[in-house]
Amino acid sequence: MARTGSPDPPIFDGHNDTVLSLVKTGRSFFDRSTEGHIDLPRAREGGLGGGFFAVYIYDPVNAEHARPGRADPDAGMKIYGDERTWPEPMPLDYAQSAALDLLGRLLETAQASGGRIGIVHTAAELQRCLDAGIFAMLLHFEGAEPLDPDGHALEVFYASGLRSVGLTHSRRNRFARGVPFKFPSSPDTGEGLTDAGKALVRQLNRRRIMIDLSHINERGFWDVAGITDAPLVATHSNAHALSPSPRNLTDRQLDAIRESRGIAGLNFHVGFLREDGGRESNTPIARMVDHIEYMAKRMGIDHVALGSDFDGATMPAELKDAAGLPRLMQALRDRGFGGEDLRKLAHGNWVRVLRETWGA
Ligand SMILES: [Zn+2]
Repeated sequence: MARTGSPDPPIFDGHNDTVLSLVKTGRSFFDRSTEGHIDLPRAREGGLGGGFFAVYIYDPVNAEHARPGRADPDAGMKIYGDERTWPEPMPLDYAQSAALDLLGRLLETAQASGGRIGIVHTAAELQRCLDAGIFAMLLHFEGAEPLDPDGHALEVFYASGLRSVGLTHSRRNRFARGVPFKFPSSPDTGEGLTDAGKALVRQLNRRRIMIDLSHINERGFWDVAGITDAPLVATHSNAHALSPSPRNLTDRQLDAIRESRGIAGLNFHVGFLREDGGRESNTPIARMVDHIEYMAKRMGIDHVALGSDFDGATMPAELKDAAGLPRLMQALRDRGFGGEDLRKLAHGNWVRVLRETWGA
């Protein structure tokens, strides 16, 4: 879709739940839809050049919400606001079977794209896709539940293209604990990594798979920071100083990310943007820029990126979906971000940190 004026740099985004949205709605990634936030036509219109595609597995209690054909897939979903109500970690075979289904769907989508989509395994491939207008998919686990403690499954998933793993979603598993969904709250909500979690961090380092620290609680964050030799990355988290959700990053965490040459990706979810944690979609795009400004001031422009949470969260109505991204870019220009800074925010920082993490 042609756009007028100076073209924005292509955007690479740190988080979406698009594959689950495709399953739940039955829509195709190749057709423009009014449901969800990303499909190829809307990505092209908005200048979205690709992103992290999350494989997220519903816990068995909520599994029916991941199935197609429900009028309102999220209605009645059990939300875990308190650690004490968390279910037992899900069985490995259940998690692996769900992961194979979602990973397979992403690979099928790329396969069916006739060259319009590329699965990226290296930073050079990612840059090439962005330059050539090929939509770049990075395969990511949002929660390490499909990985066995001995590390065999990771090799299979790596061979399938997996290049990024978040140790846990907002729940607990064999490796780590996430933050519950409560507001306001510090992210310091419980115990850190288990021994299996510490071993997994070392294995991910050896394999040079990126570790994502969004959703993990604060003690887990510091445990990873003490072990890993890679830059610290939170793919979709904001500034806790501006919105005191446990999903957001404290100033100390932002400082640690800067010192490790890492990245925080701006989450567009209104509940993580607003000072009151409310879910009002009338939250202005300017509020997104407030968080970017804060994080850029605290860490430097090299450590801030985008991590939309498209297809998994409530977007500001003013932005709406991937086709609305030029409105965010304009708001950034209006606040003084331009030229090389805008390129870094849009995709340059992601390419840099992935190169340093993956080694190519
Ligand atoms: Zn998430």
